[in-house]
Amino acid sequence: MAGQVSEPTILAALLSALAMTAIVGVRYLLASGGFALATRGVRPGLYAGLDRQIRSEIGWSLLSAAIYGVPAGIVAWAWQALGWTRIYTGPHDWPLWYLPVSLLLYLFAHDTWFYWTHRWMHRPKWFRIAHAVHHASKPPTAWAAMSFHPIEAITGAVVIPALVFLIPIHVGVLALVLTIMTVMGVTNHMGWEMFPRALVHSRLGGWLITASHHQRHHEHYQCNYGLYFRVWDRLCGTDRGLSSP
Ligand SMILES: [Zn+2]
Ligand SMILES: [Zn+2]
Repeated sequence: MAGQVSEPTILAALLSALAMTAIVGVRYLLASGGFALATRGVRPGLYAGLDRQIRSEIGWSLLSAAIYGVPAGIVAWAWQALGWTRIYTGPHDWPLWYLPVSLLLYLFAHDTWFYWTHRWMHRPKWFRIAHAVHHASKPPTAWAAMSFHPIEAITGAVVIPALVFLIPIHVGVLALVLTIMTVMGVTNHMGWEMFPRALVHSRLGGWLITASHHQRHHEHYQCNYGLYFRVWDRLCGTDRGLSSP
């Protein structure tokens, strides 16, 4: 009937949401598990005595995986079935120079959203409601990458699904954005710096966020709110430099 969404359509969207939830959950387990294993080799004993905390981090993270998976799955279905979104597949649909530009646009937009929602969640009332779960990890481990209260998870889950309707992106660049998001989410919490000192302490490194920067956020709370770049922290005077994990 005209104007009505058919049952198979709803079922397809639901299945896509379910599949994406499974993908995000498995991606989390593989990425966090991989870096937790690496931590055993690089810093033996770093997570000693944290078994209870790690179980809680995994529980919150798997719940977050479902919250991330639903909008992502529905958008993936809308892209495939209806041709919605501005995701493109032909490498020459947009000029080649646009590939790196779109990568930076996505990372910067995500970083901006994260910085301001994160600062908002550090207001006392919202901290108790939405962000205390993330900071219950003391110190965080590689498993804390998605350890968020559902409210915080929702603020994170809507970003990329919204951006694909606004900013054109090649599907391969989108995959790269998601990979960077996953790897940095895990490594920024794992308790040691994997990037060489020469990069972290370089002029370029001074604008990038790695474990040394985010670790300080978990130590001091009211500083270093950013996700990928130190631009907003520097502009707003909330950058307190690096920790030495
Ligand atoms: Zn954190
Ligand atoms: Zn925080």
